[in-house]
This record gives sequence, structure tokens and C-alpha cells, in this order.
Amino acid sequence: MSSRGTFDGLVAVVTGGASGIGKAVTETLGSGGARVAVLDLEPADASDLAVRCDVADDESVRRAVARVAESLGGIDILVNNAGIGAQGTVADNTDDEWRRVFEINVLGTVRVSRAALPHLRKSPAAAIVNICSIAATTGLPNRAAYSASKGAILSLTRAMAADHLGEGIRVNCVNPGTVDTPWVQRLLASSGDPAAELAALRARQPHGRLVTAEEVAGAVAYLAGPASASITATMLQVDGGMHSLRLRTGAAR
Ligand code: NAP
Repeated sequence: MSSRGTFDGLVAVVTGGASGIGKAVTETLGSGGARVAVLDLEPADASDLAVRCDVADDESVRRAVARVAESLGGIDILVNNAGIGAQGTVADNTDDEWRRVFEINVLGTVRVSRAALPHLRKSPAAAIVNICSIAATTGLPNRAAYSASKGAILSLTRAMAADHLGEGIRVNCVNPGTVDTPWVQRLLASSGDPAAELAALRARQPHGRLVTAEEVAGAVAYLAGPASASITATMLQVDGGMHSLRLRTGAAR
């Protein structure tokens, strides 16, 4: 939940807003007064405007962003959330699998940002929030392509923050740990032992549980809103301490 009225009069675009983190972001910004457009492969109707869009296709992105600006009267906030996962070491994935991950996770963010910039430049409260990942800053096993794509998002966030600060556009990212979304549920379902896999994912996070999509949405709303008007080029970790803590187990601490 964000405070009622925080986003009154503002228009937000959320890519991948039909599911998981994007859906929670859509609801949070909406409850704060924003009019929210969801751009997704299968957009849900729970937003002010649902636009079918494939972030891997530049024409589709340009059409979708133009439709939002025309229908809702501009764009103030962009949340680049649409993304896909990939499992494997650097030896495992084919070139096509690497290209697909970068096509959606990295170039998808580039395309939507590029199309939205002319509208963001006109906003008095412009903000971009990229959904990055703990994988950008911490080595996770079996996630080479995915981690590389999120590392690119972290660097891109900082580069964009530098390029667009003078235009009044803040650019930040949120780095979640493992979040309980349909994505992670699919991952669990495809594992040989879902209960053991869930226990391992929980144990990996110092606070002993999965992050909720609403907790990530709260961080996104903070970085998108007026309370963070002096914050740009930063990453906000929502990971139960996974990025920074080294706890000891057992009695001696
Ligand atoms: P999710 O439940 O799978 O939602 C992702 C949404 O993005 C889906 O609605 C999906 O549509 C859409 N999407 C996928 N490819 C797209 C494309 N080419 N164009 C437009 N929309 C597309 O995943 P999530 O867990 O909420 O993840 C959202 C973001 O958070 C991703 O960037 C992910 O990397 C990041 N993240 C997630 C976690 C986690 O543990 N869940 C942790 C760190 C970061 P379809 O369902 O139709 O494919």
C-alpha cells in the first residue's frame, strides 16, 4: 500500500504488470492515486489501461507507449518489470537462450524507456524504477545468463540516471531476493522435490522466508514517489538481508 493521494494526477506504466511483482506494483501505485497502464503479453484488466505488448518487439513497445500517453494524457512513472528467468551455468545455455534473456530483460528495458522518455521529459515528477535482482550483486549458482542480464540492468540504471538527471528524470532500481510469485511457484513445481526446494530458498534468505510481492511493490512506490525526490542512481535491496548479512547459526554469535 502507498499513502492515499501520493500519486494523484500521475500516470504510471508497469511492464509485466499482469502477474507477480508487476501486479502488486500496479495495485500499490493505483491505491496511491496513480492511473496505471499495464503492458504485458496477456494484460489483466485490473488496471486503468491494459495494453498487449511484447517488450522484445520494438514496434509493439512504441505502439503500446503511444497508446498510454494518448489515452491517459502522458507518462510520469515507468516501472520496467517484465522479465524472464534462465537456469544454467555459462556452459549450459545456447546462444539463442542467452539472446532471449537479454532480448527481454535488458533490451526490453531499453525499448520501453526509449519510447517513454519523450513523455517523461514533460513530467514534473518523472521517475523510472527498474526491477533488478539480488543476482546482479551476489553470485547465485546455475543462473549465469539471468545474473548477467540483471548485472546489465544495474549498470544501465546508473548510466540512465546520469544521462537523464538534467532532464528531471530519476532512475533507480529495486533488487529483490526470492519473491513468492507465480514465477517462483513454477520453478518449485518443476523441481524434483518442491518442499525441499522451497525450504532451501527460504533458508538462503537471512530472515528465513520468501519476500512478498507487496514488499517489493512498497520499495518501488517509494522510489517512484515524491518521498525519494533526492534519490537517483541507487539500488534498494528487498531481500531479507541476503545481500549484506553473514549470520552465524547455532548458539555462539
Ligand atoms: P512473473 O510472475 O512471471 O511475472 C512476469 C510478467 O512479465 C508476466 O506477466 C509475464 O507474462 C510478463 N512478461 C514476460 N515476458 C514478457 C514480454 N516479452 N513482454 C511483456 N511482458 C512479458 O514474474 P515475477 O516473479 O513477478 O518477476 C517480475 C520481475 O521481477 C522480473 O524482472 C524478475 O527478473 C524480477 N525478479 C523476480 C524475483 C522472484 O524471485 N520472483 C526476484 C528478483 C527479481 P507471461 O506470464 O504471459 O509470460
